[in-house]
Amino acid sequence: MNLKNNRKTITRKILCLIMAFVCVFSVAAPYSAPVASAQESLEDLRNQIDEIEKDIVEDNKALAEVEKDIKNNEKKLDNLNDQLDKISQQVDLLMESIDIINDDIDDLQGDINVTTNDIKEINTQIAEIEAQITETEALMDSTREILLARIRENYMSGEASTVELLFSSTDLSTFFARQELVKRVSENDAELISELTEKINELAELQSTLETTKSSLEEKKSELNSQMNTLNTRQNELESNKKSQQKKQEEAAEKYSEVENLIEELDKDSDEYKKAIKKKEAEREALEAEIDEIIKQEGSQVGDTPDEEYENDGTLGWPLKERCTITAGYPYYPSGGRHWGIDICLCTSSGSTRDSNGNSLSYGQPYYASQGGEVIIADWHKSFGNYVVVDHGDGKQTLYAHSKSLNVKKGDIVKKGQQLGLMGDTGNVTGPHLHFEVRIKNADGSVSRENPLNYVSKPSYVI
Ligand SMILES: [Zn+2]
Repeated sequence: MNLKNNRKTITRKILCLIMAFVCVFSVAAPYSAPVASAQESLEDLRNQIDEIEKDIVEDNKALAEVEKDIKNNEKKLDNLNDQLDKISQQVDLLMESIDIINDDIDDLQGDINVTTNDIKEINTQIAEIEAQITETEALMDSTREILLARIRENYMSGEASTVELLFSSTDLSTFFARQELVKRVSENDAELISELTEKINELAELQSTLETTKSSLEEKKSELNSQMNTLNTRQNELESNKKSQQKKQEEAAEKYSEVENLIEELDKDSDEYKKAIKKKEAEREALEAEIDEIIKQEGSQVGDTPDEEYENDGTLGWPLKERCTITAGYPYYPSGGRHWGIDICLCTSSGSTRDSNGNSLSYGQPYYASQGGEVIIADWHKSFGNYVVVDHGDGKQTLYAHSKSLNVKKGDIVKKGQQLGLMGDTGNVTGPHLHFEVRIKNADGSVSRENPLNYVSKPSYVI
């Protein structure tokens, strides 16, 4: 990545500068002449900070993008999860329905099988009975032939009226019904005919019962078949529905794993950016320490009597004169980053930092020196924008950043409450405000970045 090369180059540059700086000061410190070269080194260091600040801003932007992407994708993942749950529930319901239908179909098929067997059996019985009827009818036919032969003999002996009677009969039943004729046949014949008639009647009755049973079974079978058709149709519908749901399920699962992979990739990117930012923040911190070193060389220190022309009254005052509020405190931003000062905005009585039109109340409004002193820095910086550092003597320094414009320059002597500039939004900011710091150069020569609220008491108009 380009970033890494840049970083290495920057780190090398910084190391060279620090080495050069240390060399200059270790040799030149005891003399007054090297102030100019110290200024140059300070200038170089500021430029280096500017570059690193720029990189950090870029990386932070990229990180914010990546984190936004991760959030969006996590939302997508949640949605997909919901969809998957819903589809799974539908598939489960369908499976249950299909199971129930399959059971119904099995039951119905059992019924159909039983009915089919019943019909088969009845058909066999009917066939048997039909065979018996045929056999009996044949027997009756032959019996009739014998009777006819016998009557013919009677006719030959001259009993003509019986023959006429016989031939006028159209079927067997009429024939047998004729009591007159029956009386004329022998006792044996009459018995035989009576038995046969009885048997035929029995068989005909049985056949009719069987036919009735058969037709009711066939009706039942056709009803069962129609039910079976309905169930089969429903089963097909459910199966096709199940297939389409399963396809949806597969698609959703595929999407889910795609988004999961994407999030994994984004997490890796995010880690990389976080590492890069951490490293650069460490580098910036090191360089800010170098600036502290320069302040050590130039600033007053605790115990030094303030210059008389400062008209120092001994206490640091609040840098704003109107109703205001602290939007970010010391020593961390709400987001967790280091913050070596406090951010102050003008506000309404309800605490809003904007007017009813949404415009900042702070932009372009004056801010004032906390105490009399000498301006030791009045400059522009990528992070602080237009900013001022005032040395008040006795080791106290105050810093004012993000100005729209400055009213003072390096070397100016200012009085307490004198306007230093206008509040603005230059440098690395999210909106117009005054960034205010207190740095102390201690009696042992060290510089510490203090909580301003330990030095400046809040007036009643700070809400
Ligand atoms: Zn700030």
